[in-house]
Amino acid sequence: MSENNNLSVSAAQACVLGFAETDGSEEIPLERALGRVLAEDVRANRDQPPYDVSAMDGFAVRSADLATGGVLLTVIEDIKAGDLPKKTVASGQCARIMTGAPVPPGADAVIRVEDTRMLTDDSVEITVPVKAGNDIRVRGENMRHGDVVLHAGTEITPGVIGLLATVKRARVNVHRRPRVAILSSGDELEALEAPFDADKIPESNSHALMAQLQALGIEPVRLGIARDDPAELAGFLRQGLDYDVLLVSGGSSVGVHDHVRPTLEALGVAMHFWRVEMKPGHPLAFGTRGGTLVFGLPGNPVSSMVCFEQFVLPALRRRMGHPALFRRTVTATLAHPLKHRPGRMEFIRVTLATEANGRLRATSTGAQSSGDLCSMARADGLLVVPAESGNLAAGDLVQVQLLDGSLYQRTAGFVEEAA
Ligand code: AMP
Ligand code: MG
Repeated sequence: MSENNNLSVSAAQACVLGFAETDGSEEIPLERALGRVLAEDVRANRDQPPYDVSAMDGFAVRSADLATGGVLLTVIEDIKAGDLPKKTVASGQCARIMTGAPVPPGADAVIRVEDTRMLTDDSVEITVPVKAGNDIRVRGENMRHGDVVLHAGTEITPGVIGLLATVKRARVNVHRRPRVAILSSGDELEALEAPFDADKIPESNSHALMAQLQALGIEPVRLGIARDDPAELAGFLRQGLDYDVLLVSGGSSVGVHDHVRPTLEALGVAMHFWRVEMKPGHPLAFGTRGGTLVFGLPGNPVSSMVCFEQFVLPALRRRMGHPALFRRTVTATLAHPLKHRPGRMEFIRVTLATEANGRLRATSTGAQSSGDLCSMARADGLLVVPAESGNLAAGDLVQVQLLDGSLYQRTAGFVEEAA
């Protein structure tokens, strides 16, 4: 299997995705649906608007009466949203109408209140001419009864929630979320709850991974810390293999204390690869048992997070039914030179700032050691240096994969248009 022993990032992604199938569906209440993915096409339950309605507060009129401005009309009725008109508008007449209220028979246009002047209680002067159809939203203009308004595979955002409520869907079918377990391994690790010991390594990976999963809407289970002992490790791994996805942190390398891979194999996991040509993240193992996906993530904290982004995240999004599997990448201008030896794809932690010309500018967060979480904590994104690239120069255009937290900025970023 040595051919599987040094995959490119994209070959490794393709391998993982080849084993990640979209999970089945479940019906849930709308108020729990944010962030989930529709497992069904959703159709309009009626025309929307259900009839021609006013787009403004104003008067429903006959446009033929109003070839010119300065016309007096008699107000015959008041129509609010939710009312049905009772009268027909005849020549010389109009109806007072509110936004969203049905346009009465006889009328073919709406004049907004700002273009009118009340003379008496039931007499209004219209100050502008109007064309037929003015300020009327026609029946079915938003959606027609039976139309598919949301396709399966749509991520449920606040806008989608609003639309689902509009078509009266109190419950929706969405894809299931996989059950995910996280196991940390290593004799040197000190749990967050344990008393501080300067000689130990603080166990951080399970916490960072948990947060990466929570950001995807998954609430994982942390199984704990397994010592570098094959029997203890096997006990933990057996538990973890009951989940849909098992993330094992550390111990996947080739050191004498790295027991993860052989122990997984002994438990019936088929290993598909265990090295990827990337930096950070070289020792990354991937295997499957039945439908369970097992990732042996590198122990180094940044490597663990970067590998999650490249391989675990797309697989989980596939399982949850998302058509868009990968982090968004943006083009940015590199702020400084960057050394790179051809060979491995490299992920550089960067901050992003918007330059005066509107372009994004990427700046390294500093030392890029795979153990340095300070530089990860500051990063807006991961600059992707292609495997075969040489050194990069200041001003070069680069691709940056956005991380959580990069969606916001300090100013609104737009200016009001001059009048
Ligand atoms: P390993 O992949 O087990 O060889 O670990 C590589 C490096 O990552 C070592 O310095 C470990 O101490 C560190 N490491 C491993 N697991 C964790 C973890 N769960 N949290 C923080 N650091 C870790
Ligand atoms: Mg270890």
